[in-house]
Order: sequence, then structure tokens, then C-alpha cells
Amino acid sequence: MSGKDFILALDQGTTSSRAILFDRDGVAQASAARELPQIFPRPGLVEHDPVQIWQDTLTTAREALAKADIRADQVAAIGIANQRETTVVWNRETGQPIHNAIVWQDRRTTDLCESLRQSGHGAMIQARTGLIIDPYFSATKIAWLLDNVAGARAAAEAGALAFGTIDSWLLWNLTGGANHSTDATNASRTMLFDIHRQCWDDELCGLFNIPMNVLPNVLDSADDFGLSSQDLFGSSIPITGMAGDQQAATVGQACFTPGMIKSTYGTGCFVMLNTGTEAVTSENRMLTTVAYRLDGQTTYALEGSIFIAGAAMQWLRDGLKLIDTAPDSEALAHGLESTNGVIMVPAFTGLGAPYWDADARGGILGLTRDSSIAHIVRAGLEAVCYQTRDLLLAMQADAGNVQGLSLDVLRVDGGMSENNWLMQFLSDILDVTVDRPIVTETTALGAAYLAGLQVGLFPSTAAITGQWRRQASFTPDMDPDRRDELYTAWQEAVARVRTVA
Ligand code: ADP
Repeated sequence: MSGKDFILALDQGTTSSRAILFDRDGVAQASAARELPQIFPRPGLVEHDPVQIWQDTLTTAREALAKADIRADQVAAIGIANQRETTVVWNRETGQPIHNAIVWQDRRTTDLCESLRQSGHGAMIQARTGLIIDPYFSATKIAWLLDNVAGARAAAEAGALAFGTIDSWLLWNLTGGANHSTDATNASRTMLFDIHRQCWDDELCGLFNIPMNVLPNVLDSADDFGLSSQDLFGSSIPITGMAGDQQAATVGQACFTPGMIKSTYGTGCFVMLNTGTEAVTSENRMLTTVAYRLDGQTTYALEGSIFIAGAAMQWLRDGLKLIDTAPDSEALAHGLESTNGVIMVPAFTGLGAPYWDADARGGILGLTRDSSIAHIVRAGLEAVCYQTRDLLLAMQADAGNVQGLSLDVLRVDGGMSENNWLMQFLSDILDVTVDRPIVTETTALGAAYLAGLQVGLFPSTAAITGQWRRQASFTPDMDPDRRDELYTAWQEAVARVRTVA
């Protein structure tokens, strides 16, 4: 034993900052969390306070160490997983942000995106970055900050400002301003990074009018990112792992082989399909992204997201007050044979992949006089499964040419994956086995694995694969005709709420 047997994972998410201390077996020893206040300056705008994010991260890290009674010199490394795309610009001299962080959900750059789309830049951007033009990604958020904060553009031209997603911001603070880096997964979400050449793209920076000197260095997902300042934890700890949250979850789920797929069911739902060394260009409006980069070797993924998954349960609970808690949905759904034709399309904020219909709005269809709360709740759960099928069909079509790729097991995590009825219905509708692991904190675990790979605490991805443990497995048990009938009815319902063909 080296005496350094633990990894500290920092999981900085959209709604909370968490720190979890893992041991060599990938078992959590202690954790701490803080809820992150959301700032809504106007409808459609979402910001976070970057200083608060850093302070909460530091506090939770210290708390996790204290709870486990572990000293910093027993920690082999720190790994960071983070909400992606959220944009911070700060002053290199003072370390002060020039503005709040602009969160991935923020829509303030919709017009700029629309004009880029109309001037025909979509194909080039998708070819280089794997992304579809949308305010979601960092590029237009950086441009907005440089154009709207007094003096920012001149300061950026003079080399006085730094841009980072939350990973870079945390790294900068952890290292006392010594390191300005990111990893390839986070870089791949900025819309400025060429995912094939694995470098910042000067033409894209020109198009978005972003001086390249604001950008961080791009390293592997397991790499030497720097040392934490000695004063933070008592002794300095190497920071050796970094990935965007969904990519970290992919690593935490040990999806290391092409064809392996994970789906995270939280507020929204994010599906990632490992496509190996091939960056598959989507013809079905999925995103092509970096799954992870290890030893200079890039592994790619296709990604699809559903905006509203668990959020539909929150709405039924807090908005309509039809249920007391989200887990109550399980017994309600279980008690019925079917929804009796009730279908919910939870397009509250438009529809994401594969529809990308920002103006679509939700609907509950097929109501009759005997429709009950249970029917509506069950329809809300079923919608998550139909939408997952939408994504999987699109991914299958895109990935059809990738050799050796067969898509037969879906690994799930996230709060909603605790719902057994939902997981069985998911398996039935997808006609795919659904596996749920023992550790469902896969995002933090993935960050720990990446950091541990770099320092040798985990010898290889194969060793990580060996640590993955199934807690439950759900296998398809539905008549194919019934499956088709239900899915056709879903597609018809989606067609009714859409605003574009
Ligand atoms: P996030 O990380 O996005 O905040 P979590 O992974 O913590 O989300 O999952 C919480 C979400 O899952 C909430 O939207 C909640 O409504 C939903 N949820 C939690 N448990 C269940 C359950 N047993 N059945 C259905 N939905 C659930």
C-alpha cells in the first residue's frame, strides 16, 4: 500500500456541487454536497455565480475529507466532472470573473445562432465540431460576454482574460491561478474545437470573433493538470482527471467498448453511445462528441438528449400536485394495465434530439372521462421510454456502418433509474436489456476513475470494467405488436405538438 489510497472526485453539476471520496475499489467513503442557487435575470436567461461555485466546491471537498477522517496526503489525486458548456470569463491578473457564468440552458444567444444558421455555416460547424448550432454550446456565450461586458473585448485582445468551462475555472482556482487547461471532452462542447484534429480551430474562432489567447490548453481526460495549492487541503494533491458530466458518467459506467451505451435519467436524460475511434457524423441530428481521450487516443460518442425526464415528475408533483413524491409514480403506474390511450408529450421547453423543435410545447392527449391521476402519471413515465427509443433509433441509423457495433444492453443511472416499473417498461419499449449498476453516482465515479488511471490507482480501463457491478437487470417482456402499437401512438402524439415538419 502506498498510503495514498483515495481519490477525491469533484462533481460540479447544474443544481449542486458535490465531493465524493472513493477508495481503490470504487467504493464511496464519504460525500458532501451544496445546492447551487440559480440566477434568472430574465426569462430564458440562466446564470451561476462562479465564485460561489468555487467556494462550494472547496467546502464540500474539505467536508468529505473530514467526514472520512482522511488527510490530503492520503489522497492520490483529484478528478473533476462538471456541468458542460457553462461559460466563465475571468481576469488573469485578479482571478475575478468579469460576469456571472452563463449556464448551458441560457438562450440569450438565440438570434446570433439563427443568423449563423441562415448564413449557411451549419454544415461546416457540424463537420468540425460534431455539434448543431445552438445557444447550448459555449462559443456564442463567450462572444456575448466579450461584446456586452464593458472593456472586455479590448482586455481579451490584450491577453488579460481567460475563458473556461467550469472544469477550467475550478482548476485555475485549485492551482492558485497556475494552470489554465481543460480536457478534450469539455473542449468538444465549446463549438470552437475541431474534434478530428483535436485542436482549437482558428477559422471557427474567427467566425465567432473570439481571440484564441483566451482559450485553455487542451489535455487528455486523464492527464497531469496541476497541483492543488498547499494551503487548500494541508498538502497539495495532483489533479489528474477531468471530463464533462455525461462523459464522466460514460466512464463511470465502464462503457469502454464500441456499441456500449449509457443513459442517465435525472432532470433530463442523456444517452451516450461509444463509437470507438470513429467520429460518426450524424444524419439524424444527434451530436458527435468526444467520449474521452486517454494517452492521446480519442474515443468518440454519439449523444442525444431529452430535456424533460424526471422534470415531468417534478411538474406532476409541484405544478399539478398530483403526486406527493416522484417515487410515488412507481406504484401508480404499476397498478394499471395501460394508460387507456393517454399520452403525455412533455415538450415543456421544446423538443430536443432528434426533433430539435424549440417551439413545440407539451400536450396530454387521449383524455377521456375515466382518465385518472394514475393514467396521467403513467403517461409521464412512458414518455421517457418512448423518447429514449426515438434516440436509440436515430443512433442505430447513424451508427449502422460502424463495424462490430451492436446495441443490446443499455446501462442506466440517475435518480429516475431507481424506478423499477419504469426500467421494465423501458426495456419493453426498446426491446433491449436494461442494466442498473450498484453505484449510481456514476458521474463522480467516472471522474475518480480518470484521475486514478493517471496515477496508477486503477491500472487500466479493463480493471475499471472489472469493478462495474450490476444491481438489477431488466429484460424485454412485451409482445412486439403491442410495442409497435404503443410507439406508433407516441409518434402520432409528437406530430400533433410539433411546429415544424
Ligand atoms: P439531477 O442530477 O438532474 O438533479 P437526479 O439524478 O438526482 O437528477 O434525479 C432526480 C430526478 O429524478 C427528479 O426529477 C425526480 O423527479 C426524478 N425521480 C427521482 N426518483 C424517481 C422515481 N423513483 N421515479 C420517478 N422519478 C424519479
